[in-house]
Amino acid sequence: MFSEEVLDALSRTPALYGAALVLGALLGSFASVCVYRIPKGKSIVSPPSHCYGCNRPIRWFDNVPILSYLLLGGKCRSCGARYSPRYLLVEVGLALLSLATYHFCVELLHPFDPTPLKLARFAVYLLFELCLVVIALIDLDHMRIPDRITYPAIPFFFGVGLLLRDRPWTDGLIGIAVGYGVVRLISDGYYFLTRREGLGYGDGKLLAIVGGLLGWRAVVMSLFGGSLFGSVIGIAVVAWRRRKRTGDDAEQPSLRHVELPFGPFLVLAALMYLFLQDTLSVALRAFIPVI
Ligand SMILES: [Zn+2]
Repeated sequence: MFSEEVLDALSRTPALYGAALVLGALLGSFASVCVYRIPKGKSIVSPPSHCYGCNRPIRWFDNVPILSYLLLGGKCRSCGARYSPRYLLVEVGLALLSLATYHFCVELLHPFDPTPLKLARFAVYLLFELCLVVIALIDLDHMRIPDRITYPAIPFFFGVGLLLRDRPWTDGLIGIAVGYGVVRLISDGYYFLTRREGLGYGDGKLLAIVGGLLGWRAVVMSLFGGSLFGSVIGIAVVAWRRRKRTGDDAEQPSLRHVELPFGPFLVLAALMYLFLQDTLSVALRAFIPVI
């Protein structure tokens, strides 16, 4: 039997940090499958991965995250079709995110919690990150956030959040209501005033996932941070497009004409909140004591 001390010592070994890294890379590979298949309404488990060029199944030794991409130079072994470097980026990104999350859960956040609870929190956070990364990439590709992910994810992450007991259950419930409600209010208000679609309901469902797990403060901070990141990147995109079109008589692009998905910015802000939750709630309380 594992005693508490053994498990605690084991959780700090390089072997388990390595396992977190490998697990993240595997989830990164799975994330790309989800991003490709979910918008098409296809199953995410079958058939096994196959090359989009020659349709041949990708053998297990050519399907090792990160390593296979590097060894084969991002090409299919059979037909030489090129795979987007985004596959590699997502695998490396989730591997590093998983490693950071593991260290955060085991050493930094609530250091006096029992080890099994810390490991459970890591598992929940990692699944949450996988879900958010998939949503961000689908929104980037298709400018929409599929209900097929958000509808099951909202109750799932609210439920596992209850098991972690990190915050009162009302906090998550208010988080869901605020996340969906505020976006719906802004979205309907904007449409009423301008007859143009601004914020989508999908963004509200995404914020409901965030609020259900991390509470309503996470929703407020994600909306705030997401708007900030979105504005900065939006202005940069407009400036870049203007520069490309100098000397052209065509209408200059302005911020109103650039359509950027909001989801990736919300996800970026929500992930930052996850790591800064303690620091940010202390800072928030210093400014607004009732929060
Ligand atoms: Zn091929």
